Amino acid sequence: MSRTVIGPEIERLIQLLSKLPGLGPRSARRAALHLVKKKDELLAPLAGAMTVAADKVLVCSTCGNIDTTDPCTICSDPRRDASTIIVVEDVADLWALERASATNARYHVLGGALSPLDGVGPDDLAIDKLAERVRAGGVGEVILAVNATVEGQTTAHYIMDRLAGTDVKVSRLAHGVPVGGELDYLDEGTLTAALRQRTPF
Ligand SMILES: [Zn+2]
Repeated sequence: MSRTVIGPEIERLIQLLSKLPGLGPRSARRAALHLVKKKDELLAPLAGAMTVAADKVLVCSTCGNIDTTDPCTICSDPRRDASTIIVVEDVADLWALERASATNARYHVLGGALSPLDGVGPDDLAIDKLAERVRAGGVGEVILAVNATVEGQTTAHYIMDRLAGTDVKVSRLAHGVPVGGELDYLDEGTLTAALRQRTPF
């Protein structure tokens, strides 16, 4: 039996931190130690920020973005071009495009990509909702900014089929997105160029 060396409160903190992406048990312990050492400068403000976020975080019922208002800041911004919808797999991709200031369009977050092997089908993604938005009118172009992975491209083809028969123009990101590449990992310049040189789908 292993000896208990810290109280359950800190043990719980380590356990929760280890569930964060990119943090294993070892880095979670380091992060927890750093937090408890910097109790006033870091731990308390972080706990406060997390409580506020947990209280306020909402999923936008229009586009699937995560924000503190519904509709989200982007959907409710009148300066945003409502006639262009950029379809992304994840909120991380939306953030990446926004970091690059690559576009003034609005978004649609799918919530993943089609992956029969992982049991992810069309009903698991916000594809019906996208089709609804397009059918509601006012949309001239849909840009498929999905990852250059097999799943991403399968998803793009599926969406293309679903939008067939509407008069919306469908385009996708240009080359420059490496095969197998995930948008969140691209530098801003590559992402901006890929969006500007998008090609008809
Ligand atoms: Zn939104």
